[in-house]
Amino acid sequence: MTKTKFLELINFLQKNHKVYGPVLDRANRLLVREIKKTEHLVLDGRLTHYSFKNLFLPDCEPLFDYDHQKLKEPNYSYEKRAIVGMTISDLKALELYDQVFAKDPYYQERKRQTLVIGYGIASKKSYSEELIYVQQFEENILEHIKFDIFLELNSDKTDKIFNGSNLIFVGSEEGMKVLDGFGYKNYDKIEYVGPIKEEGLDRTMMAINDKMKKSYTKKIWENIGKRCIECGQCTLVCPTCYCFRIDDEPSLDRSKGKRVRCWDACMYHEFSEISGKTRLLKNTEQRMWFWFYHKFVRIPEKYKIPGCVKCGRCSRVCPVDIDFMKVLQDVLKS
Ligand code: SF4
Ligand code: SF4
Repeated sequence: MTKTKFLELINFLQKNHKVYGPVLDRANRLLVREIKKTEHLVLDGRLTHYSFKNLFLPDCEPLFDYDHQKLKEPNYSYEKRAIVGMTISDLKALELYDQVFAKDPYYQERKRQTLVIGYGIASKKSYSEELIYVQQFEENILEHIKFDIFLELNSDKTDKIFNGSNLIFVGSEEGMKVLDGFGYKNYDKIEYVGPIKEEGLDRTMMAINDKMKKSYTKKIWENIGKRCIECGQCTLVCPTCYCFRIDDEPSLDRSKGKRVRCWDACMYHEFSEISGKTRLLKNTEQRMWFWFYHKFVRIPEKYKIPGCVKCGRCSRVCPVDIDFMKVLQDVLKS
């Protein structure tokens, strides 16, 4: 599929979907926004600054209203959307969300209304340093990730990404219906066979898992605990962080109000506060350890998939230059 044809597909989708995808802001950051004009869509291999999670789990979401003793039924009618430009790591993260929020009606309904269009780059030969986060194809990767439509970008002779003959895959009935409706038949169908086995508790994962369990008191946490300023940026941009808090927002006389679910992060010191102002995670060092423990021990053990999709967003945004992959290496060496 040529670039022009793909942009026509976006126009076609816009007739009955709100289409979201990566666009550049004034500061040259790639953000996920509604695509009003197809020329604004940027698919060049770079990861978006924030992940796509806000579209599936809004940063603050009203769950229901109450009025005196009456509970107002939540409204599950969400807009029909197409989300374009999720990379392979973003799609892997979504798989974790599917499991964590398997029984959450808000997440599930929103997901049902969403057409997911992922993309990857066939080769990164001679691409600039800026594209270090490009997710290249691993062998048979598409069988292991869920999507409706997937675009494999190929370069032209001058190495211009997207300008070559791009390949299209469908991974669901919905994806197929859309392409059929658009009148495009030249696609391959991919059967989903489940998450990548090796990425469950493979040897590296097992080693990290084991080391993390024994590393609670290690110097590593003390060292990065001293540097971290608890800004929470790493968790905001991370596509696999999903912790939230529940806030009740009552009216002044407390007769009415609403319950809201908002993102939270274990990097904040109030996160582990329980009644009596006791904090279970007492200092930055413990909070750092806890963040890694959740990603590399609890999530893999519970869901059998990694709690980190190696996108690198956390290290990229950290204002004190904590390199999370380097921390992992230190854990493995410890
Ligand atoms: S690399 Fe960092 S931001 Fe990306 S998934 Fe792993 S922990 Fe989250
Ligand atoms: S981004 Fe860096 S400084 Fe901010 S909370 Fe995360 S580790 Fe700490």
